[in-house]
Amino acid sequence: MSIKVESVSKLYGEQKALDNVSFEVKAGEIVGFLGPNGAGKSTMMKIITAFLPATEGKVTVNGLDVNKEALKVKSQIGYLAEQNPLYYDMYVRESLKFTADIYKIKNAKARIDEMIQLVGLEKEQSKKIGELSKGYKQRVGLAQALIHDPPVLILDEPTTGLDPNQLEEIRGLIKEIGAKKTVMLSTHIMQEVEAICERVIIINNGEIVANDQTSKLSNIFSSKAIIEVEFDKEVLESKLKGIQGVVKVTSADGKKWVIEHKAEIDIRNDLFQFAVKEELSVLALQKQKTSIEDIFKQLTRQETVK
Ligand code: ADP
Ligand code: MG
Repeated sequence: MSIKVESVSKLYGEQKALDNVSFEVKAGEIVGFLGPNGAGKSTMMKIITAFLPATEGKVTVNGLDVNKEALKVKSQIGYLAEQNPLYYDMYVRESLKFTADIYKIKNAKARIDEMIQLVGLEKEQSKKIGELSKGYKQRVGLAQALIHDPPVLILDEPTTGLDPNQLEEIRGLIKEIGAKKTVMLSTHIMQEVEAICERVIIINNGEIVANDQTSKLSNIFSSKAIIEVEFDKEVLESKLKGIQGVVKVTSADGKKWVIEHKAEIDIRNDLFQFAVKEELSVLALQKQKTSIEDIFKQLTRQETVK
């Protein structure tokens, strides 16, 4: 069950919420859709789930065009909306029965029992939804999204507003469920992607700015790289700055330096030659890893400057 988004743009009146967005989510993947508030995440998800038409472009879910086969698409997708509408006066079981009936699920009672167990609502199953904590409300939302056993799950900021314990529980649950499904989840929290997702698609101002394996992001999308180096003697800042590709150098004692350089230029060879020329010994040299969070800040900052 794959999702394919091709050159999708969305206009709200004059405002462009999505600008020529393309990406794919392959069957069985858990993909994080990461971006700051207002980036266009919810808009994209509403289009994928056939709740909102795109202004331009095409979206298919397992080959089904979301515009032409909205009902079929909806039957294949479990969607947890950002502001998931729950009826607070309904009891947990009652609300799941309500959803089961919408999907015309046969043997609804057995399926509801299964869902309650899956999302861990056993102790709360006889309560009214309004009486549940935010974390348990979110579990009801997940149970509703899963009740028709959809192969694709679209979760819009599923952990927003949860306390740290609930957060961990819901993340664990998503990971567990995601083992058997194609999942796309949106978030504005970097750590969430690192905790749950194999791949990350970063969106900013309606445009995709990065799309790669979560583990590879730090190497590929950082425009600046950092090297830490230690010499046996003091070195002048102006001399280090002369090395090609170096952007900025900082040091407390003149011996240990943090060198920021353009990522596309590997300065290590030049750095060694510099040391030889200056009759210095290199005592230590280390490439610093940038976290996804740093990269994300970089990417979004670049976009704002533009
Ligand atoms: P995100 O989910 O990443 O926070 P959204 O998709 O909700 O972003 O919003 C993207 C942009 O589109 C925002 O600037 C938002 O204000 C705008 N937007 C979203 N929904 C509507 C709407 N129904 N009408 C007008 N503008 C909207
Ligand atoms: Mg949103």
